[in-house]
Amino acid sequence: MTVTTSIEEAGFVPASRISAIGVSQILKIGARAQAMKRDGAPVIILGAGEPDFDTPDTVKQAAWKAIQRGDTKYTALDGTPDLKQAIREKFRRENGLDYAADEITVATGAKQVLFNAMMATLNAGDEVIIPTPAWTSYSDIVTIAEGKPLCIPCSAQAGFKLTASQLEAAITPKTKWLILNSPSNPSGAAYSTTDYQPLIEVLLRHPHVRLLVDDMYEHIVYDDFRFVTPAALEPRLKGRTLTVNGVSKAYAMTGWRIGYAGGSRELIKAMAVAQSQSTSCPSSVSQAAAVEALSGPQHFLKERTESFRRRRDLVVAGLNAIDGIDCRVPEGAFYTFAGCAGLVGKTTPAGKPIETDTDFSDYLLQEAHVAVVPGAAFGLSPFFRISYATSETELTEAILRIAAACSRLGSDSDR
Ligand code: PMP
Repeated sequence: MTVTTSIEEAGFVPASRISAIGVSQILKIGARAQAMKRDGAPVIILGAGEPDFDTPDTVKQAAWKAIQRGDTKYTALDGTPDLKQAIREKFRRENGLDYAADEITVATGAKQVLFNAMMATLNAGDEVIIPTPAWTSYSDIVTIAEGKPLCIPCSAQAGFKLTASQLEAAITPKTKWLILNSPSNPSGAAYSTTDYQPLIEVLLRHPHVRLLVDDMYEHIVYDDFRFVTPAALEPRLKGRTLTVNGVSKAYAMTGWRIGYAGGSRELIKAMAVAQSQSTSCPSSVSQAAAVEALSGPQHFLKERTESFRRRRDLVVAGLNAIDGIDCRVPEGAFYTFAGCAGLVGKTTPAGKPIETDTDFSDYLLQEAHVAVVPGAAFGLSPFFRISYATSETELTEAILRIAAACSRLGSDSDR
């Protein structure tokens, strides 16, 4: 008979680099929502950062062929020659960027690209400027690499975008990187050429600052917004820019774990050293699939973006019709970052005050069975993020529930 007991290690203390970051708030909320769902509550989860579409069949077939061919062994450390070639062509075709093969790196997701970049460049105390609201991983990765995240709040009035004067004021002799993400997770805000230009001018005046641009949501942009990337806008900046991208979002390939970047030969080489002692190489089968994603048919990108646009319009209009919620129209990605300042100070029917966006998100989960992520998780309050990568039916139901829950909030004078 096998006896299974859980093991508890009394007095376990994690390393300070781990206790400094804790578990992501997004994952915590997701776990709570999933647990409520398992217990039978009809929870609608609008917290996930992944498309609800499936990986294209052509991509799956390329993976299957790679398995049959025996592409099942370790590959070159930071990407197969075939994938590097496909990435070079993608950068040239879609971004007007010319990178040599040794200026390209491939990793296990864009997250590992970021990790490698920070591990390869930061010494203890080096500063990284992160405009917020921002994807939580930036500051956590910087912290793990012993750097110091410098979060700069960017207001809704400024379109959640960093201004040149904010950047100028944040740069110190210890600044190593500026991280920009366009279109953004969580705000959906995207930088146009006009938005980038003044920031580029500041960076040109400070040659010790590197620029990491996270272009993960490049293909998900709406209306007549034209996606641009800084290394293509300013050749003088290209050498110190790391242009990060991946297949997770555009090709609905989050589980395949392939991300990539273009940057200076020296940086790419140092990043490969970091990778060599963490994963050895990205998955061989996933790399073959990514070649097909980047080089094969691309028609579904437009179709999927059109579907995301309809959902964005539905969610933004629905949220803006609710008293106390204020939602900017995002240019891209599949998130809205809505303001809930008008609801802070209200009281739930159970008599609990809503003091923060975390209180509001908790209330929505508990009362409306809708899981959203509070702005606090992304470094800007009082807001909440909705991921609209789910069906229009679910989104319509979620908005109805949020509206009903908000209408049940009262002011202190009501009771
Ligand atoms: N950048 C941004 C802005 C993201 O939202 C994500 C995923 N949530 C990533 C990078 C990481 O993508 P992956 O590791 O799946 O390539």
